[in-house]
Amino acid sequence: MSRIGIHSFVWSASSAQGDLERTLANTKEAGFDLIEFSYLDPANVDVGGLARRIADLKLGVAISIGLPADGDISSADKAVAARGVEILNETIALTRDLGGQKIGGILSTSHGLQTQAPTRDQWNRSAGTLAKVAETAKAAGVTLNLEIVNRFESNLLNTASQGLAFIADTGSDNIFLHLDTFHMNIEEADVGLAIRHAADKIGYVHIGESHRGFLGTGNIDFAAIFDALTAIGYRDDLSFESFSSKIVDENLSRKTAIWRNLWADNMELARHARAFIAIGLETAQRKAELVASRHRP
Ligand code: MN
Repeated sequence: MSRIGIHSFVWSASSAQGDLERTLANTKEAGFDLIEFSYLDPANVDVGGLARRIADLKLGVAISIGLPADGDISSADKAVAARGVEILNETIALTRDLGGQKIGGILSTSHGLQTQAPTRDQWNRSAGTLAKVAETAKAAGVTLNLEIVNRFESNLLNTASQGLAFIADTGSDNIFLHLDTFHMNIEEADVGLAIRHAADKIGYVHIGESHRGFLGTGNIDFAAIFDALTAIGYRDDLSFESFSSKIVDENLSRKTAIWRNLWADNMELARHARAFIAIGLETAQRKAELVASRHRP
């Protein structure tokens, strides 16, 4: 069974000890198996203490980041690219130290709106660098999962198929796809078909609605998505991602253009999402069994 996770920004964008503790307690209380922390700064966090708390609560943990413009590993500027490698290596160490096995997010290039088309040189530099970083990650027991995001948040990888080509070019067996239903809904010809096409390279999935609010209240066809995940036998982690102007991270809220408050009560939102995903997966499984049943009278 897939573990069902939740993005920490549903609870809080703060790295203060008390807020992190509350985030873990809320995650558990809402019935999730895993917490995904974004942009946790190890310099400001008691990593050992947090790891113990995560283990005590029997939660899984994943870390996601988006590389900043001054830490873009695809850059021709060597200092900028080197800063990107440093950030990735710090993130690998943090993930390992918290007891996690996955890094997700925008790792191949910087996160944010670009106004120029990417070049093949950028692609090659990024793939070559990530191949090396993936070895460091492997030694730490951590996989790299490249989040495929829409055109307004990155210019390099916008479809799952582009991600597959990129992974092939890295030559690494420790790099996978991090798919996100919100982004796929914008860029893919067919979300279900794209999931089937990428099947064995999917390492992590974000479940988000078209407006990033309550699941089922936007225009994403989640039945088709749960059917596709069931058809490929996906048993890995799925995390609910939602943002509202209620909880603001100065950096991420702007890059992801969170201007409206789509919810105010995060516990209500989280409980609903947990149930929605669990029922969605269970229903897809029941449908798959029904269509395969060879009933004879
Ligand atoms: Mn996402």
